[in-house]
Amino acid sequence: MNNKHETIDLQYRDTAHHWHPFTDTRKLSVKGPRVIKKAKGIYLWDSEGNRLLDGMAGLWCVNLGYGRSELIDAASRQMKELPYYNTFFQTSHAPVIELSTMLAHLTPGDLNRFFFTGSGSEANDTVMRLVRTYWDTLGKPEKKTILARHNAYHGSTVAAASLGGMQAMHAQSGLPIPDIVHIAQPYWFDEGGDLSPEEFGFRTATALADEIDRLGENKVAAFIAEPVQGAGGVIVPPENYWPEVKRICAERDILFIADEVICGFGRLGRWFGSQTYDLKPDLISMAKGISSGYLPLGAVAISEKVAQPLIERAGEFFHGYTYSGHPTCAAVAMENLRILHEERIVERVREHTVPYFQKAWSTLTDHPLVGEARSIGLMGALELVPDKASRKRFDNIGQVGETCRDLCLDNGLVMRAVRDSMIVSPPLVITDEQIDELIERARKSLDLTLKKVKHR
Ligand SMILES: *Cc1c(COP(=O)(O)O)cnc(C)c1O
Repeated sequence: MNNKHETIDLQYRDTAHHWHPFTDTRKLSVKGPRVIKKAKGIYLWDSEGNRLLDGMAGLWCVNLGYGRSELIDAASRQMKELPYYNTFFQTSHAPVIELSTMLAHLTPGDLNRFFFTGSGSEANDTVMRLVRTYWDTLGKPEKKTILARHNAYHGSTVAAASLGGMQAMHAQSGLPIPDIVHIAQPYWFDEGGDLSPEEFGFRTATALADEIDRLGENKVAAFIAEPVQGAGGVIVPPENYWPEVKRICAERDILFIADEVICGFGRLGRWFGSQTYDLKPDLISMAKGISSGYLPLGAVAISEKVAQPLIERAGEFFHGYTYSGHPTCAAVAMENLRILHEERIVERVREHTVPYFQKAWSTLTDHPLVGEARSIGLMGALELVPDKASRKRFDNIGQVGETCRDLCLDNGLVMRAVRDSMIVSPPLVITDEQIDELIERARKSLDLTLKKVKHR
């Protein structure tokens, strides 16, 4: 079969039988999906033979890039030895024990214990049950409300989508579930109005204190946040935001949960985003980069403060997944962590790749469509606006972003659109030449987008 035929056949059967996540099925049936066939390093090839630079590392996860045979061999070795066994009812196996030990060394502070899940969403569901059980155990069952932020992304299960602050997700099927309250996000470009970033950082941090005081500290269990919001649009908080939030949390008796599903494992140039911002989380949820996406895996890191009362007084924790601590996923994650460590990839990202990327990314600021080109670590966002001088948005929000995204794909670059922000989060192993290529393709796509916008 030639490429064209094969593609049409796959597209036909895809639209007939495969229901996609985060996809408008009617639109998809008109156009047919782009079928990805293989990948190597930071590049993807589709079924028609087009090569794409993967500026999103899959979905923020393929941090080591594609085709690392060590990870494949680790899976194969483990599957031959013990492909699966559970960790319920007082059993264990070496891969989950070794991975837990490695993570205890990597995570900051006394986050010493790890509950494993199959995904980031399941990690956040687990977190929610852990924090409520924690306060129950301490005799404070009314400390139940969890604070989160508008436009946060914490996953797609019922609890995780409720913790998240995505309006479109809440609008479908009656979310959020009770006892979750959302506060303002530190998104200065969109919501800062006439305030300086510092004033706005202070105001959005203060919203946390105000909400705790409004609800009563005795009703609030925890605050959950991503160190840097990813899916919300790579939202880098003003510099004073985290120090102020840290102060507010320290003065009040609530738990702080860092959702490090994206920021963990080197994305911000340290093993965890909490280290970049010097946060002291009581719990961390993680997934994605833990296994570079080669196999699904998530985890919750639990501090001694949370663990001790649970161990002493809670009895059995009635929670777990068939694949909690899956040995093959654990073996692949360990190999991923070994490579990150031995090849000093996190250090290289911090000392070399990030400075190079930041400089290159910021050159896009001069483009007529770009109102702001911001980045932190190896994550970047471009705010597309009709008028560079103001932070005003295009009328039909999301349309220009989608146009730009499609033009990027036509020009061999995967860049994601969040409304009218374009975002990237490339594999951590991206080289300087590949960063230059990413920027060149982005600029070309922006030029073509501008032409189309003017035409309209
Ligand atoms: C992707 C993501 C999740 C959800 O992870 P899944 O593995 O898709 O369930 C949770 N939190 C953040 C910050 C994420 O980016």
